[in-house]
Amino acid sequence: MRATVRLHALTRRATSGVIPANRSNNVAFIGLGRMGYEMATNLWKKKFAQNSSGELIVCDARQEVAMRFVEETNGRSASFVKTPREAVLSAETIITMLPSSPHVVSVYEGFSEGIIHTLKELPAEEAQKTLCIDSTTCHVSTSQELAQTMGQLQVNIVDAPVSGGVSGAKAGTLSFLVGGPERSFELAVPFLDLMGKRVIHCGPSGSGLAAKICNNMVLGVQQVVVAEAMLLGQRLGLHPKVLASVINSSTGKCWASEVNNPVKGALEVPEGQAGPPAQRRYEGGFAASLMLKDMGLATGSGKMLKVPLPLGEKAEEVYAEMLKANPELINRDFSSVYKYLEKL
Ligand code: NAD
Repeated sequence: MRATVRLHALTRRATSGVIPANRSNNVAFIGLGRMGYEMATNLWKKKFAQNSSGELIVCDARQEVAMRFVEETNGRSASFVKTPREAVLSAETIITMLPSSPHVVSVYEGFSEGIIHTLKELPAEEAQKTLCIDSTTCHVSTSQELAQTMGQLQVNIVDAPVSGGVSGAKAGTLSFLVGGPERSFELAVPFLDLMGKRVIHCGPSGSGLAAKICNNMVLGVQQVVVAEAMLLGQRLGLHPKVLASVINSSTGKCWASEVNNPVKGALEVPEGQAGPPAQRRYEGGFAASLMLKDMGLATGSGKMLKVPLPLGEKAEEVYAEMLKANPELINRDFSSVYKYLEKL
């Protein structure tokens, strides 16, 4: 039987301005994409599925996705709203998981329907109970400016980007890299614990993002060089399995070679396991377009701070050229850079 998909009561009252009594028990999750959907599912299962006094309120620009989420919970302690404004009015804790900076700016600073505008409408003591957790990988400066505005409203906010990919989001094993004041961090931990297995306080606002973009720059460069080595080795007559096993037991060992090897058949895949995206035409995994975005976040910061990043910039160029030449790879795993190099 098809479950009834519930629109949150606040929305049904056409946002009358009445603050629901249970705002404190509710959590809103905005951005149900590849990562957000899985994270929100874990949050719901662990916090709301069993006899909860509150509910999980979901919101996405694609309303049908939010409706599907509620449908999959059979409407048990879950409902959806249409705008960030309604999310703020319904829940004290707000988690955002959006593509990048422009989306974060739009959801937080959007005129009349944005989070900040709505917080300003609430009585100050109600607004100050709010906790915002932004898990988007976006510009450090976007996050710091946001934190400054929230600080003026005395609202707690942390940047909490993640590492671990879609599989980690699904398994609830993500690592959260958190930036923000100690108090905000402590408030965020109980929620992050439900979606990940490691929560690291990296420092003040923006620090979680700083750590995230540095890590992803390393990863982006490594994936290119592993693709280069795997290509060169084969042209020199090596079997990809032999080469991968040498690299993975030598000093070249890294995640890009050992787990995300870009050559189909290079790794032994235990029975019942999917293996790296290369095994399935680079489907799933971390989209090449997101890697290009993250490389740009790192090199942009490098330029601003006058830090030389010759390898980071070169790898960014490789991903940019790859997607220009092969737009069909935009949503494929970034290890598909191997295919691009192979064709050159
Ligand atoms: P995605 O594009 O799949 O999902 C983003 C979601 O946000 C979509 O459902 C979209 O409809 C929604 N959205 C966009 N604008 C909105 C708005 N104004 N209001 C409400 N909803 C809006 O992205 P993703 O893969 O889930 O990644 C999310 C973030 O996590 C990105 O910053 C990404 O870099 C980061 N990240 C992704 C991975 C990964 O493997 N996919 C791994 C680590 C970190």
